Amino acid sequence: MILLDGKKVSKDRALELKAQVSAFRVAPTLAILQVGDDERSSAYIRQKKLFGEKIGCKVLHVTFENAVAHSDIIEKVKALNADVAVHGIILQLPIPANLDSRSIIEAIDPKKDVDGLHSENAKKLADGEESGFIPATAKGVISLLDAYKIPMSGKKATVVGRSALVGTPTALCLTNRGANVTVVHRATVNIPTKTKQADILVVAAGHAKLIDSRHVSPGQTVIDVGINLVTGEKLEDEIPKKKLVGDVDFDAVKDIVGAISPVPGGVGPMTVLSLFENLILAYDRMRTGNRN
Ligand code: NAD
Repeated sequence: MILLDGKKVSKDRALELKAQVSAFRVAPTLAILQVGDDERSSAYIRQKKLFGEKIGCKVLHVTFENAVAHSDIIEKVKALNADVAVHGIILQLPIPANLDSRSIIEAIDPKKDVDGLHSENAKKLADGEESGFIPATAKGVISLLDAYKIPMSGKKATVVGRSALVGTPTALCLTNRGANVTVVHRATVNIPTKTKQADILVVAAGHAKLIDSRHVSPGQTVIDVGINLVTGEKLEDEIPKKKLVGDVDFDAVKDIVGAISPVPGGVGPMTVLSLFENLILAYDRMRTGNRN
């Protein structure tokens, strides 16, 4: 079994990005908007900041109170759109339910939408066009497959999950690479038949250990996107520890499949890497005036 080591791929690629950025006149700058202080969001933002700084980019962390007015966020987005020193803008999700994330994302200049969630960029991806931005996780999945030279063209791929953030763009990216893609979700019947038939199985359901030995077949490539915080086993007198697991029961499938990405250390680092690849792309397009 080949371990698809996203951590290593990301580390190697970071060195290349750092060299690329050091030749730029100004540092590519990413603004991250956060509403409230959700612990997981803060942890993701810390990871993004660390990675960005490591490769010589700037990260502006813009925070809002939970009670912020929707219009205040829109005003800030407009100011960042107009700021030539800012090359990328993302809204850290989720945000409080009383705020409308869609209209905030639509307010971001599509040329600075490095999360690729603006409808203009989503449409470009759906049209098979490369001139927009591909959502970071989907891009990370494809880069991980590329890094291990796993062929996509003509292969059968199954994607578990159809969210706008992960499942749908990943399925589109695989389609654009020539794969024959099946998407399964909560309402799908007989999921194991559809996951077993795939050469490439991508799982993004947000459900710990959803995929086990009944869902996989020998030689498959499995990409586990899921990040679930579960309570580990409780030993006598010990406080149960929280740990991160994926959507795939790694131990149950590792001796069956041909290749698998671990959690943590698989898609997570590839997502952060891809966000900054998008930022550098945004910077480069602005610098060269090629704003497509
Ligand atoms: P989501 O809740 O928006 O979507 C989940 C999708 O999975 C839905 O389409 C749903 O129909 C499907 N699904 C849920 N339970 C299912 C089941 N039992 N059987 C079949 N399909 C099922 O979640 P999301 O934003 O797409 O995220 C999915 C997972 O990926 C989460 O664990 C999230 O934390 C993780 N994630 C990881 C990264 C990363 O960088 N590794 C980035 C984003 C999200």
